[in-house]
Amino acid sequence: MVATTSQTVVVAGGSLAGHRVVAELARHGFAGDVVWVRGPEGTAPYSRPALSKELIQGKVTRDDIRLPGLDTHGLRLRVVDHAVCARLDPDDDRVLVTPTHEAPAEPSDGEWIPFDALFVCTGTRARLPEAFAGLPNVHCLRTLADAERIKERLPGRPRTVVVGAGLVGSEIAASLRSCGLPVELVVQGRLPMDTVFGEDLGRFCLDRHHANGVTTRLLTTVTGLSATEPDGPVVLTFDDGGQTCADLVVLGLGAVTACEWLHGSGLDVSDGLGCDEALRTARPNVFAAGDIANWRHPVFGRRMRVEHWSNASAQARHAVESWWAGLEGREPAPFAEVPYFWSDQYGLKYQMVGHARGHDEVSVERIGADGYPFVTYFREGRVVAAAGVNAPRAVMRMKARIQSEATTIQGAYAG
Ligand SMILES: Cc1cc2nc3c(=O)[nH]c(=O)nc-3n(C[C@H](O)[C@H](O)[C@H](O)COP(=O)(O)OP(=O)(O)OC[C@H]3O[C@@H](n4cnc5c(N)ncnc54)[C@H](O)[C@@H]3O)c2cc1C
Repeated sequence: MVATTSQTVVVAGGSLAGHRVVAELARHGFAGDVVWVRGPEGTAPYSRPALSKELIQGKVTRDDIRLPGLDTHGLRLRVVDHAVCARLDPDDDRVLVTPTHEAPAEPSDGEWIPFDALFVCTGTRARLPEAFAGLPNVHCLRTLADAERIKERLPGRPRTVVVGAGLVGSEIAASLRSCGLPVELVVQGRLPMDTVFGEDLGRFCLDRHHANGVTTRLLTTVTGLSATEPDGPVVLTFDDGGQTCADLVVLGLGAVTACEWLHGSGLDVSDGLGCDEALRTARPNVFAAGDIANWRHPVFGRRMRVEHWSNASAQARHAVESWWAGLEGREPAPFAEVPYFWSDQYGLKYQMVGHARGHDEVSVERIGADGYPFVTYFREGRVVAAAGVNAPRAVMRMKARIQSEATTIQGAYAG
């Protein structure tokens, strides 16, 4: 039995990973104090994936996408909203918590909170190049507030340009098209989502956009955005010298990690927050989970960060378990969950398991009544990933296969 009554845990980040860490502390029967610093958004935790899908399409409301309420089992929980962790003391176990600009005006110098354990779940924010910031009709999509700002514009049927065709950009284009908007999609590479899916599914994704009436500009980079009137159309200029005009521009340029507050803490923040296989950072009582965590995956034998929902949820549980194992004097297990994500576009469900980066071979089958492509990715003869469209069972079978190979390999490590 671990005695935790006099301990304090700080959880930084008020989205999925933070929410799951708090839930997991309650499930373990943690009897101390939990200070949950939820960040600048000031909203109860919600499901981010719904933003680019059901919410923007008007199929659900902000209330529908709230994460389930926490059963805190009498946890001594202090929730701090409109506040951020602003600094981690390099020498002492304490974090500085300060109000954010969005906070209801109540100036304060901040509060140093000492901790016995810190869980860093501050995730990522949308990448917004400085040159593109501040224009009224140019939006990113990361938060509920972003989604609601975009949604407000839709009744006017704006001519829309989506810049970037990764997971979020492709979904936004599909959702806005489903709302009947004229949409142009600017793709920096040869195909949408090809850095994730590769050639075959990337081509399928492109064909879906075209079949649904999206126009695309391939191999094109936006070099400038400008507006002549304060709320007027936006002019986009491209690296090939071309131009286009839009009433609404949505940027899907990827994400950057919210690590700035950890600079000077002595921790590795070169790409997210570096941690070991059990999600422990170089400070044994500081853990990372979710989009921010950069750990060495024991199955794929490489460091990675995974910006997907199920990873954030599973890592949060694992990080708490790692801490708990330490309290009980046990060696924590490595986090070896096989990455998984899904994406919904035009009524189709894309799903992918594994880690395809560095694959050297693919096999493509046509499966199901519709003959959609199902791709298996290999590295050095071993299956490392699989992806399909409307093929949940086939994808999950591959997940089980990759996971079982994982277990075998881990067993070999342990032996
Ligand atoms: C539009 C969109 C669609 C998506 N769709 C899918 C999908 O279909 N499938 C899928 O698998 N994944 C999807 N994802 C990814 C998924 O939502 C993320 O992987 C998940 O939200 C990660 O959770 P997290 O808690 O690690 O980080 P985040 O969700 O980034 O949350 C971090 C939290 O920390 C707060 N914070 C930041 N800095 C500080 C600080 N200094 N102090 C305190 N708090 C701070 C932030 O405000 C935020 O609330 C999507 C993401 C987006 C944006």
